[in-house]
Amino acid sequence: MNMQEQAGHLQCPFCETYEVERLYLASLRLDSCTCGSCGARWDEDPVTGSYRGRSFQLGGLRPPLSL
Ligand SMILES: [Zn+2]
Repeated sequence: MNMQEQAGHLQCPFCETYEVERLYLASLRLDSCTCGSCGARWDEDPVTGSYRGRSFQLGGLRPPLSL
């Protein structure tokens, strides 16, 4: 229940601009966000708006645990 979190919902968490494009991915039940300013990409929970981590591709990232 953080007011600032609500207000900053369309704000890029990395460069703090508001040039965020949001794409709802129904199959994954998440919002895929892309910042038009710094190019950062990350995922958010569409229900709670909570940050779900950056979603750019990194070879060294830990693979997902068993689904
Ligand atoms: Zn940004």
